[in-house]
Amino acid sequence: MRMPMPIVWLATLLLAACASVTNPVTGERELTVMDERAEIAEGAKAHRTVIEEYGVVGDAALQAYVDRVGQQLAAKSHRANLKWTFTVLDSPEVNAFALPGGYVYVTRGIMAYLDSEADLAGVLGHEIGHVTARHGAAQATQQARAGAAVAGATLLGAVIEAATGVPGVARAAGGLTQAGAAGLIASYSRDQELQADQLGAEYLARSRYNPANMVDVIQVLSDQERFAADAAKAAGRAPPAGAGWLASHPSNAQRLQQIRVTAGQLLARQPTGWADDGRDGYLRAIDGMTFGDGREQGVVRGRQFFHEPLGIAITAPQGYRIVNGSEALSLVNAARDAGLLLRPVPAALVQKTGASHEAVLRQGFGATDGRIEKLTLGGSLPATHFVGQRRDAKGNTGSLDATIASGPRGQLFLLGRVASDAAALERARPALREAELSFRALGPAERAAAQPWQLKLVPLPAGGFGQLARSTPLAELAEQQLRLLNGVYGGHVLPPAGSLVKVVQ
Ligand SMILES: [Zn+2]
Repeated sequence: MRMPMPIVWLATLLLAACASVTNPVTGERELTVMDERAEIAEGAKAHRTVIEEYGVVGDAALQAYVDRVGQQLAAKSHRANLKWTFTVLDSPEVNAFALPGGYVYVTRGIMAYLDSEADLAGVLGHEIGHVTARHGAAQATQQARAGAAVAGATLLGAVIEAATGVPGVARAAGGLTQAGAAGLIASYSRDQELQADQLGAEYLARSRYNPANMVDVIQVLSDQERFAADAAKAAGRAPPAGAGWLASHPSNAQRLQQIRVTAGQLLARQPTGWADDGRDGYLRAIDGMTFGDGREQGVVRGRQFFHEPLGIAITAPQGYRIVNGSEALSLVNAARDAGLLLRPVPAALVQKTGASHEAVLRQGFGATDGRIEKLTLGGSLPATHFVGQRRDAKGNTGSLDATIASGPRGQLFLLGRVASDAAALERARPALREAELSFRALGPAERAAAQPWQLKLVPLPAGGFGQLARSTPLAELAEQQLRLLNGVYGGHVLPPAGSLVKVVQ
């Protein structure tokens, strides 16, 4: 959950008349709603949304480093003429994506799992490939042709939906996804992914990075997914639904095989060999980077959630899982059929309705007939609970079970109960009430626990990752997580003792 922001309208596409452009990669003519100028304009608009939604990592040296690696690759790409922008987003999600017009993003979450500059170049090269081959523009054209409205969703709208019905539970349980800017980051087709892999490998080779790094990157990231499944199994949870980079990037034998072939061909054409993989420089650049939830997102510590900038804390009921999404925090029960959703009420909404809890419930969330109850949460925070009917702007009706609370710094919060059906809601009611009542001002003793973790570099001791695991705050499968961070998950061979490795502190 991030600090509240004004309601952001996701960028809408100007559906210009179809024009014909030359694809920079294939050299073929194609019909499009997005010529290069429109690509740049739409990209720039969506870029602002992405920056507002995720926030950027505040380390200027790290941003400059990623930009340097990216610019060098882009200069050797099929579209060196574009003005390229590379940004490290302040998100723990393992993700990378690109917007039309030359905007490329990597999260600090994905950077934690990469091990060298050449790995980073592999991720950037793949995303550059999506832009040079105009995949985003092709997607937009297809959507326009299909008549699919790309316009319209607001962040708030998504939350109201999540707070009031079945789709909400799916979102709450799967983790609220960070809204892709106007569908420009829509999932690409399998062929487009394969083409981006090929282009990525080619741009690596042109920049004298070993194109085999493209293969490494995909293996590192599939290990990451394997770990998530293993961890869920160890904890007796269902394996996580695919999310992030790999979900949209099918990782299978054929894909790896194809990149291996490409890498081999490129290798044969490069008699002078490859430059250094830049491991030392990369590790220096990420030394001290935040790992996991950051200060701006708030941190999960066991059953507790602490958000320092907002000055709040909440405790999940026993057996509940905390999902810290960008727009809301979800406390989800073990059966994954009910939960509590917590998020700040946007200032723009309060401006419209006034700060009275009841007005926010009625005008902001469509509450109509029902029962209103005044409460005090966490011993000091005034709150108003509503249970009853709601009607949205389009006249659709449904039920609403939500609380508006005044935070310690004047900010209003929505605590919405979500469930797959009435029976599930009924079963979860005592636990959800307990969670609501635990919503409180962050205490002085909790402030220390609210500090985010950091990635640090240390020499690998003789006792390996098992020894390092004893002094890390990572709670779940600590040794396995450290191995994963260092690219030696599962059966991989450990680096020699004394080599620099990443740890979490
Ligand atoms: Zn891709």
